[in-house]
Amino acid sequence: MENKKEMRSWLDDMKLDHPLVIAGPCSAETEEQVLRIAHELKDSDVNYYRAGIWKPRTRPGNFEGVGALGLKWLQKVKEETGLKTTTEVANAAHVKLALEYDVDMLWIGARSTVSPFIMQEIADALAGTDKTVLVKNPVNPDLSLWLGGIERLYTAGIKNLGAIHRGFSTYEKTKYRNIPEWQMAIEFQNKFPDLPLICDPSHITGKRNMIFDVSQTALDLNFDGLMIETHHDPDNAWSDAAQQVTPDSLKQIMRDLKIRKETDEETEYKGKLNNLRAQIDVIDNQLIGTLGKRMKISDTIGGLKKQRNVAVLQSNRWNEILGKMILEGEREGLSEEFVLKMFKAIHQESINHQEKVINA
Ligand code: PEP
Ligand code: MN
Repeated sequence: MENKKEMRSWLDDMKLDHPLVIAGPCSAETEEQVLRIAHELKDSDVNYYRAGIWKPRTRPGNFEGVGALGLKWLQKVKEETGLKTTTEVANAAHVKLALEYDVDMLWIGARSTVSPFIMQEIADALAGTDKTVLVKNPVNPDLSLWLGGIERLYTAGIKNLGAIHRGFSTYEKTKYRNIPEWQMAIEFQNKFPDLPLICDPSHITGKRNMIFDVSQTALDLNFDGLMIETHHDPDNAWSDAAQQVTPDSLKQIMRDLKIRKETDEETEYKGKLNNLRAQIDVIDNQLIGTLGKRMKISDTIGGLKKQRNVAVLQSNRWNEILGKMILEGEREGLSEEFVLKMFKAIHQESINHQEKVINA
């Protein structure tokens, strides 16, 4: 797929002076709930009102959405508040109904993007319409699969496109519900600078108190907008209760976020600098995380050495590591002096860790 300016014209045409904001509940629950939240969001930066009608749940037996009935409620939202609407579609039947009820924008969920069959079915059902469609990243961190889904829509003639970054699932437990893997979003933007990229901090964090920080990182990385799950009574929401925020907190988040617009040369320079710094922050966090993991393995080795009564320092092994890393470093443009200094520091920390374990 090529980078095409036409993919973002729907967003440029909105001439917003702030990032695009999509907000509303995870799920449409009742007509009162849908309308109440919409009215509370009416006079804010919110551009599109979201509500899931068909809910893809990981395990059966949970609330799976109100179905087509909810589309009538979304129509009412539009009539009563003037907000544009958006919902998730996961098959051709959903597309047909969403078009019938004139939902303004559709999104494709993470569990659908993984399936080329589903993506093709949705693309075929949308062919010939001028709907705006946002494609969430697949649950697994696979950039080609994500782009492949978007490409299927583009090839079917859907030109108003965008992507939503909602994080990736991992076996490993982390502080995130779905880890952001910001590197991938950065690569995505470098390849397709004209494809609008929206961040969904709700599904990345799974926790409402982390939403602000993830949103700020996304804006620093030049994302075009945010999709934030919003509910008037988050704790009693029928799905994703822990991550939803109230309309008032959403408005506060929007006020507190530092939004960087590129207007003149000075701000453009600052914007670029901030973006690059945000990329460095992402990598620094990864470096610390990786070093922490390395030391945990060292601790385990310390335990083994203690059992066997072996010395902490094994110079053969150490010289072998150094030799390999100097070569690797050379390939990455790092000087031998730097690699040596860095590995000496890492090695020392590792020895300290092991000695602590052995002497414990
Ligand atoms: C949602 O937006 O409510 C949703 C189900 O998201 P995802 O597809 O990212 O899990
Ligand atoms: Mn949700």
